[in-house]
Amino acid sequence: MCTEESIKLAPSNRVTSPTVGAPQPKGDIWWSNALGFLAAHFFVLLSWWYPAVSGWKTYTLLLFNWQVGMYGITIGYHRLWSHRSFTASTPLRIFLAGIGTLGFQGSIRWWVVRHRLHHRYTDTESDPYSAANGLFFSHVGWIFYKTKYPKLPLVQKEDLDSDPVVAFQHRYFLELVFLTCVALPTAMGHFWLDGAWEGLLYGGIIPRVMTWHCTFLINSMAHYIGRQEYTIEVTARGNLLLAMLTQGEGNHNFHHAFPSDYRNGFKSTDWDPTKWIIALMHTFTSLVPSVHTTPDREVERAKSRAIGRDNGQAERDLPRVDLSEVSALYEGKPVIVIQGFLYDVGEFASRHPGGAALLERGYGGKDLSGLFEKLNRHTLQARDLMMEMKIGQIIS
Ligand SMILES: [Zn+2]
Ligand SMILES: [Zn+2]
Repeated sequence: MCTEESIKLAPSNRVTSPTVGAPQPKGDIWWSNALGFLAAHFFVLLSWWYPAVSGWKTYTLLLFNWQVGMYGITIGYHRLWSHRSFTASTPLRIFLAGIGTLGFQGSIRWWVVRHRLHHRYTDTESDPYSAANGLFFSHVGWIFYKTKYPKLPLVQKEDLDSDPVVAFQHRYFLELVFLTCVALPTAMGHFWLDGAWEGLLYGGIIPRVMTWHCTFLINSMAHYIGRQEYTIEVTARGNLLLAMLTQGEGNHNFHHAFPSDYRNGFKSTDWDPTKWIIALMHTFTSLVPSVHTTPDREVERAKSRAIGRDNGQAERDLPRVDLSEVSALYEGKPVIVIQGFLYDVGEFASRHPGGAALLERGYGGKDLSGLFEKLNRHTLQARDLMMEMKIGQIIS
């Protein structure tokens, strides 16, 4: 289990500096976002003069709306739609889209493409909330700008476009926000609390601001304070305190090392209620047909590398295939060639962070070395995962 030590900085020789990467160019000021964000905080201040007169009922509504909105983001927006780390039935996707809307952080589609950009170009100028731009910028500063992201077209969107739940939520996002974040808490205030205004303030606005800042802490503090147990390539860290504030998302170092794993807290003792809920749904219901986990040996290999120890991984004795025979041997098969090796990507393609379509270009044993190096900075963990898919070595 993470200990108090988890919120201390890792030793300086292991820490990836949050100043890595180039500062991100900022776009025009996004006035509607900025003013709306500041106005919400102004209304939070009003609670000083308008206390929760309905007592425990008010605080129950506040706590409920804060926590439910958070789970909409962590289970739905993040682990399901951003990373496809598990599959979800249609009723569950509808439910998650609804409670994710309650988080009021943009539509699923808007949120996911930026988050995919964050993982693909972490700490670089293409990272929307790059730690290289400073703590304030990575926390809230980035939402004050209409930044253009030149690499955004490279992010996979096909899976989002083909999900009718995502499409519906994107199309009617403002209407759904009004329903979940304004109308419902206001009605609850009217019928259950002291009045409509109390419901809107304590059930609508304050839980929204709490959800925002808890989520934003992952973009900011989880790239500054904590341990780097699984990767030192990026600034992401694991932090128990943040994990407790964010339903487990504070185990951010493991998540950056293995983003398609439904667990953010790898160890059974890591605080990760989002993982526990997904696991329960997977074990006892048909709502979650499958979950993806990283093999333990991969995690051990990553940990060894992160602490600077040679993991002694032996080269496997791979069969050698003559270049002239490749196309005949693997015609129509999900086998690609990268830098002189053959990889069977049939199992992995649907989880490829860059999308299956990129891999499909190489099916039948075509050489994708150029795309592999040009399109993305593949992490060491990604390269380790590839070792498990290696089925042969090309000779010419
Ligand atoms: Zn991150
Ligand atoms: Zn993520």
